[in-house]
Amino acid sequence: MRVTRQIHIGAVAVGGGAPVSVQSMTNTDTADPEATLAQIGRLAAAGCEIIRVAVPNRNAVAPFAAICRASPLPVIADIHFSADLAVAAIEAGAAGVRVNPGNLGGISELRKVAEAARAARIPIRVGVNSGSLEKDLLEAHGHPTPAALAESARRHCRALEAMGFGDIKVSIKASDVCTTVAANRCFAADTDYPLHLGVTEAGTAANGVVKSAVGIGALLLDGIGDTLRVSLTAPPEEEVRAGIRILEATGRREAQPNLVSCPTCGRTAVDLIGLVNAVEAAIARIKAEGGRIGLRRIAIMGCVVNGPGEAREADLGIAGDARGGVLFRKGEIVRRLSEAELLPALLAEIRACTVFAPKA
Ligand code: SF4
Repeated sequence: MRVTRQIHIGAVAVGGGAPVSVQSMTNTDTADPEATLAQIGRLAAAGCEIIRVAVPNRNAVAPFAAICRASPLPVIADIHFSADLAVAAIEAGAAGVRVNPGNLGGISELRKVAEAARAARIPIRVGVNSGSLEKDLLEAHGHPTPAALAESARRHCRALEAMGFGDIKVSIKASDVCTTVAANRCFAADTDYPLHLGVTEAGTAANGVVKSAVGIGALLLDGIGDTLRVSLTAPPEEEVRAGIRILEATGRREAQPNLVSCPTCGRTAVDLIGLVNAVEAAIARIKAEGGRIGLRRIAIMGCVVNGPGEAREADLGIAGDARGGVLFRKGEIVRRLSEAELLPALLAEIRACTVFAPKA
């Protein structure tokens, strides 16, 4: 695991061994704090831990302040082109600020942001994007190569460190997965700044989740990455759910529970796809209601080839067969079930292992 310095976005620790946190970005009009706060509430319920909000102009600063005051999540201000706007957002209560130092207009402008962030005791995220690389690096490297992107990030970090500011997180993003992975590996090799991972402009949910899973997943498996955002042309709740699934798939977060199911084949004797979808939806509902399911692994398998083995290894399992299936609990056979009994039995077992937090 890469060793990084720790920063804090509000109460959320990033880097320094803290769990990898999931971020998203609102797509409501920042000038409409009610709509933005409602979306932040939905994202928090989905599992988002840090939220980024665009502050595109001066008119957005007062509503942004209202959002920061009422948000259940720490709010990062997303700023482009204007150091003065970044300073205004910091003074409005941002828990962090994301800038691309390369498009702020020079060192004196970056210094304004660093001084305001230091006074507010909040970190700066240095965002490097393949679409907005500095001219001299583009000329030297020909195009936004991984080395050019990593050098851009290093250069901005050096500039901030020269100002005595080290409360830095870095993101290096490209829409190309291989470039993103290579650039982050390159930067991670000789720095200790926490990294925010993402494949930018990854596309629709169908394409973007795959690209993000490959790019972010590769880095997480390398031990690189301290926080992440899955960027999708889709409702931001989908970004959060995908981010959580990537963390679970890479072993960086324990799945609760890990739902194992076979792909089905000509031997499948029951409506396994319908059964698994119904169980997955029920788990999502329980989680949305704040339930904690005390099962690490649920296996739903279609036949006797791999079914009994997988079901026995799980906390709760079904091995389908021509007459319905066999229910397993903690490696032991509980009882034989007809196909119609499979779903009710699984749901009853899951509910019996679920604890709901007492209502405040
Ligand atoms: Fe096919 Fe059985 Fe394997 Fe499922 S467990 S894919 S039904 S062989």
